[in-house]
Amino acid sequence: MLNRRKFIQSSLTSGAMAPLASALRGLEAQAGTPEAQVSWSELVGDSGGKLAPFPQRGHAIDISSLPWGNRVRRVGQTNMTEHDPAVMNVEEWAEFWHAAQADVVFVSVTGILAFYPSKVPFHKHGKFLKGRDFFGECVAAARKRGMRVVARMSPDLNWPDALAAHPEWAMRHRDGSVQRNEQEPQLFKTCMFSSYMDGYVPAIMREINSLYEVDCFYTNGWPPLGSLPDCHCSICSKLPASNTPAYWRVFTDRVVELWAKYDAIAKEKKLESFFFANSGGNVRGGPNLARLGKTARWFQADNQGRTWEEPEVWGCSLQGRVCNAVLDGKFATNVTAAYSTGSPGWRNLSKSAEEARMWLNETVASGMAPYFHFVGAEGGAGEDRRWQELGREYFRWTAQHEAHFTNRRSIANIGVVIGQSTQLLYPGPATARTRHYMRETTQGIYDALLWGRFAFDFVHEDRLEPERISRYRALVLPNVAMLSDRQCERLRDYVSGGGSLMGSFETSLYDENMQQRADFGLAEVFGISKAGDAIGTNGNPYYAWIEQDRATRAQEILAGFSDTHWLPGAENRVPLKPVADPLLTVVPGFVRYPPELAYPPVAHTSEPALVLREAGGGRAAWFSGDVERTYWLTGHGDLLRLIHNTLRWLTRDERVVIVEGAGFVELFCWETDPGYAVHLLNYTNPNTHHGWMRSVVKLGPQQVRMNLSEGVRVKAVDLLRADRSAAFEMKGGELRFTIPSMDDYEVAAITIA
Ligand SMILES: [Zn+2]
Repeated sequence: MLNRRKFIQSSLTSGAMAPLASALRGLEAQAGTPEAQVSWSELVGDSGGKLAPFPQRGHAIDISSLPWGNRVRRVGQTNMTEHDPAVMNVEEWAEFWHAAQADVVFVSVTGILAFYPSKVPFHKHGKFLKGRDFFGECVAAARKRGMRVVARMSPDLNWPDALAAHPEWAMRHRDGSVQRNEQEPQLFKTCMFSSYMDGYVPAIMREINSLYEVDCFYTNGWPPLGSLPDCHCSICSKLPASNTPAYWRVFTDRVVELWAKYDAIAKEKKLESFFFANSGGNVRGGPNLARLGKTARWFQADNQGRTWEEPEVWGCSLQGRVCNAVLDGKFATNVTAAYSTGSPGWRNLSKSAEEARMWLNETVASGMAPYFHFVGAEGGAGEDRRWQELGREYFRWTAQHEAHFTNRRSIANIGVVIGQSTQLLYPGPATARTRHYMRETTQGIYDALLWGRFAFDFVHEDRLEPERISRYRALVLPNVAMLSDRQCERLRDYVSGGGSLMGSFETSLYDENMQQRADFGLAEVFGISKAGDAIGTNGNPYYAWIEQDRATRAQEILAGFSDTHWLPGAENRVPLKPVADPLLTVVPGFVRYPPELAYPPVAHTSEPALVLREAGGGRAAWFSGDVERTYWLTGHGDLLRLIHNTLRWLTRDERVVIVEGAGFVELFCWETDPGYAVHLLNYTNPNTHHGWMRSVVKLGPQQVRMNLSEGVRVKAVDLLRADRSAAFEMKGGELRFTIPSMDDYEVAAITIA
């Protein structure tokens, strides 16, 4: 029988992700036995590192002084269908969310189908409404129980009679034909630049304000997320072409304009009311997220579950990091679908409890408020009610520990620049035009950061002010192709001021208008210069040659690589002019088949593959290839190690929190009102990269260390999921404790005196 340790070790040698799955198949079979808690330090890597002291504590948050929208901690939604007025038990619905301690519920007004006897022209009544005031009954049932009500609208679609009267409301294809909903073609798509948004939507809002007591307004289905509209109506045909930087600015202007308009209408009834719209789309977003962060009172991340295109389990916490990058502590929530998301999907059927719970875990860990969502109330409150107990139990747990989820700031020493404009508008390099290009790049660096258990934040490229980025020891630029001159200048100043920078491939090769520069905007900072256009591959990436003076310099970066002159390179690269002392140089890719020809015609070049530079107290590391994406595509452990080693060199091996133990986890560390909180999400699971969680692979001890600095007195360390206290020791300013074991999630809540 295969010895487990050997099995895991041998799996390790060939990569990161696929081996995880195979190692887990072994582990899962024996989960629960002592042997299952075998040390995985090989798999995780030696996190090592020196502890950097925590930043000084911020000011206390007086929760009672915040507007009500910022005090919301739990959000409930049973998304109403046209049939619900015929079947839904309103009292049971309200009682469920009340028992779950939801602060606020969404009730559908809509705009596609009215849930009340609306008199607004073209606000069609649902066919089961029959004159009933279903919306009003739901509002009353919620308010009676002390829950706030969000009036939910959908301005994205309407019916043929509206189209006949207002052909100018429709989104048009290039040939002038009407754009229609894919599942119900009778519904046409409304254009956000048309009077539909200026007249029809405000008319509904004012009607609601005149008839009901609601707390705020929300639009579902608008603005679009993750991609930009492509409309050719008479208004839009005068705008810049879709998917261009110029269009993106006009699009964001319009979103912000309508947002302000709707917000003012909400406030016509009462000043504390407000408007918010659908958001999310993670790093791609929709509107410019730096601008949206200033506008939004409530960031509603419509990111309900894994999708076929984005099958990784961390999709929700990644969204949370995006919110943290732009909201300055304002309210954000992520919608967790209790129903079966994905494609194919089932709107009225529960998903697996392990998966739904993990999405809620990620919401809380990444600093957002949990939001649970089911669609339809067939049979009174759903024919499938399995999701309800889960939601109730989870919400109650968060209510019990609310203070520890009141975050002041994230504790992290690495910032990853998300490059929203690149994510949305850059089509990939000339050598690999694929709409998945940046997604794969982002997932590559994300996965690598998780494996290394680094504490990191996302940073928006329009928010590179020194006061924001000086808190990070290093910034990472994973192929952030589009950067303006001003943004490059900010990054240059950051390095002069002692900050460190990692960049790759086409980073800064384009300006904010997607105009290609003659050389990288950050050429000087990294000490590099472009020698030609991007070079792709026929499937055989370049190799990286370890230069012979390895013994004398940057030992950290080559740590763990012995007995080889070669390392994997990447699939695509922008060739660089020779530099004085590259650490790695390019061996161009060559033939794979036939094997007779699988050798390098050119065994050594002076073309740099990795350039290191130290200047002005800062360090800079440049990869000429798309190493993050190539790591993602291949799972090659050498690339993972190379990225880890480079990050350690850039940060001078400093960590703000060290968590050592077996398993693949995502880590968050927060300064909270009572003290601090370390959140660990356990992704050690066969379904981490695909499918749904259907099991929990229990993890063994996790040793946590952090330097809270001298003078801080710790009163208690409580493990909120395990529901017990942990023994801890304080030496100087250093706090140490052990989480003895964990299931899918643990929160170590540290209370200080
Ligand atoms: Zn249009």
